[in-house]
Amino acid sequence: MADKQTVSSDWTSVKDHSRTYHDFVFVYPVISRRSGGLSIGVNLNPDKRCNFDCVYCEVDRRTPGRADRVDLPQLEAELTAVIRSAKDGSLGADPKFAEAAELTRRVRDIAFSGDGEPTMIPNFDDCVALVARVKQAERLPETKIVLITDAAGLDKASVRRGLEIMDGNQGEIWGKLDAGTEDYYRQVNRSHVRFERILSNLLETARRRPIVIQTLFFKLHGVAMSAAELEAYCRRLNDLRASGGQILAVHAYTIARPTPEPWATRLEPEELEAKAAQIRSRTGLAVETYC
Ligand code: SF4
Repeated sequence: MADKQTVSSDWTSVKDHSRTYHDFVFVYPVISRRSGGLSIGVNLNPDKRCNFDCVYCEVDRRTPGRADRVDLPQLEAELTAVIRSAKDGSLGADPKFAEAAELTRRVRDIAFSGDGEPTMIPNFDDCVALVARVKQAERLPETKIVLITDAAGLDKASVRRGLEIMDGNQGEIWGKLDAGTEDYYRQVNRSHVRFERILSNLLETARRRPIVIQTLFFKLHGVAMSAAELEAYCRRLNDLRASGGQILAVHAYTIARPTPEPWATRLEPEELEAKAAQIRSRTGLAVETYC
């Protein structure tokens, strides 16, 4: 197992965050700073479908996806294979992990995250049940099941059933909130889903279990989120809590790699830290930053 010092010293050497792994379609291992080590990604959207169209999205939708539905037996076989290769050390021998082999021994989480929005598939609950079953069979009691979501589908029946399975299996939800106002939300996330629905879904989900809020801060045509927008964003967080929502932490991050929209650009580390400090001061929440 890697200790914290090893983890932090190895981040800079881990450059490959790609969502592909050999010829696998649904599963890809990455070393993730937000996860604290090895995260096994489960891509439920190899078709690249999403109900958001974020200006900073790194998914290249000009090329077609690799599959148009989730093949559950294949997903199970791929997930089992990657977990076993982590446990027996062979994953660490892969050139992708050449400089961080030690981090690949412990599966920190299995994360629904990929080329689109995981909650858009009709059988989300079946996928969660499958992951929980594999996690138990492979004896990974401490490994989290993480859902990284834009929150638009959190009110769907099959998603709610999936979240309940996650609750019994070290589940954690990282819900996206990039704006404080409908106007900025439309500029950044370019979704047809109403902002009110996103907020309501986050609230209803956070009333049932604590969630993480994940927010990407960046520059639109060279301009970062305004002070007024940040104030509105902090009010949203305070409103969520005042209405009974439980927020574990805020993950504040910025663009890591070039995006198809060249006018969406990253914040410098000190700019991101300044935003995080303001959120801490206005909300009292724990804010973790990732550059
Ligand atoms: S929600 Fe995620 S996958 Fe969808 S457009 Fe935004 S960044 Fe891309």
